[in-house]
Amino acid sequence: MTAMTNLYDQTAEPGVPAPPLDGDARADVVVVGGGFTGLSTALHLAENGARVILLEAFQPGWGASGRNGGQVNAGLKHDPDVVERDFGEDLGRRMNTLAGGAPDFVFGLIKRLGIRCDARQNGTLRAAISDAHAAHVRESAEQWRRRHAPVELLQDGALERATGTGRYRQAMFDRRGGDLNPLSYARGLARAAGLAGASVYGGTRAVGIEAIGSQWRVATRTGTITADRIVLATNGYTDGLWPGLRRSIVPLFGAIAATAPLSEALSRAIMPERSVLYESGAITVYYRVDSSQRLLIGGRGPMREIDSPAAIPHIVDYAQRLWPGLRGVEWTHAWGGRLAMTRDQYPHVHEPAPGVLVCLGYNGRGVAMATTMGAQLANRILRPTSPFDMPISTMKEIALHALWPLAVRAAIVRGRISDRLGL
Ligand SMILES: Cc1cc2nc3c(=O)[nH]c(=O)nc-3n(C[C@H](O)[C@H](O)[C@H](O)COP(=O)(O)OP(=O)(O)OC[C@H]3O[C@@H](n4cnc5c(N)ncnc54)[C@H](O)[C@@H]3O)c2cc1C
Repeated sequence: MTAMTNLYDQTAEPGVPAPPLDGDARADVVVVGGGFTGLSTALHLAENGARVILLEAFQPGWGASGRNGGQVNAGLKHDPDVVERDFGEDLGRRMNTLAGGAPDFVFGLIKRLGIRCDARQNGTLRAAISDAHAAHVRESAEQWRRRHAPVELLQDGALERATGTGRYRQAMFDRRGGDLNPLSYARGLARAAGLAGASVYGGTRAVGIEAIGSQWRVATRTGTITADRIVLATNGYTDGLWPGLRRSIVPLFGAIAATAPLSEALSRAIMPERSVLYESGAITVYYRVDSSQRLLIGGRGPMREIDSPAAIPHIVDYAQRLWPGLRGVEWTHAWGGRLAMTRDQYPHVHEPAPGVLVCLGYNGRGVAMATTMGAQLANRILRPTSPFDMPISTMKEIALHALWPLAVRAAIVRGRISDRLGL
């Protein structure tokens, strides 16, 4: 078979096509961006009776939400002690509870809404390739155990059996995690938001925002929306719609390659329990075997669209080093997408003007977190005085933002070197 782009275009449940906006409309809330953040916000608002219009430049799930590794992981990028140190005991504890509970929230939502997306809560392995990383993984596990999270440490034979490779020194097995088909999930959220009363428009880019008294008017090429509130949920695809927002994050390109369905023997050897794995370290590699027994493995990608495994030989070579049995197996798909990194590696929530809410920057952990943040954002709009479990910060542009491609390259090289040296 010739190599194709996004595997999920082939494997996902069909979506309800979202038509373009046609004319002028009014809403309580207009949401810009049809990924997990925007769709979950629209769903939770509509379920609570708000009139919601969602605008997506392409179709729901077109962005990172329909292209990612499909790993539903618990927690923020930082360990829970660090979160409490950075934000204090009260807010830090609430952030950890929110992020630690995010996979349960996602799997619960999928069940409640009956979304068909191959969801499996078989756990996440966070694996260490060096002694230094192993010490870090042990420390993380200890911190989560103190918070009664269902995590345990694996090593030696048990770890080799769980992964099918002897590469790792140690791993934290976290029963909260799992996987899903992310494009099916995004399409399921869009369908549920529509059934709850939200209007979801596709092929409709928001191109301007203007304050009209205490209201907001969002312009598109085919009509306008006037609303009391705006939610901006554009993450790694943020454009110039809101001044300064694009420069408050660094867009990173991730890439994933997928094999043809594996033979029975290989499929039993690689991740036999069908948990998912990501490596602890500067350059994260992550993988899983999906419900049709294909291996999907991802890592950093080139800063452009890709459409063939030949464009990411480092990922394919790495997989073959992990499991030499893969040599000769066909790689059928490769694709990429943009995620949003923040300087402090926390998701960012901003309220840059009255009635405007922004949420982005999941640092590669958005399947669970973006869904959860959508519910938080809806709650913030519906019940403004109730607690909000993430810090709301002032939007800050990253200094020398224009240099980010160089900085990213340097960080990748640094990461490669330190990983090779086992630091
Ligand atoms: C290759 C890759 C692998 C990943 N793997 C994982 C993983 O395994 N686990 C995990 O937890 N996370 C993973 N992530 C991260 C995760 O996918 C994201 O954090 C999450 O999908 C972000 O959702 P979002 O809704 O905020 O943004 P997106 O899904 O990117 O959606 C933003 C949307 O906004 C739209 N948009 C932008 N500007 C406008 C405008 N002006 N008007 C209208 N629409 C607009 C875009 O078209 C886009 O559809 C991965 C990301 C990538 C790219």
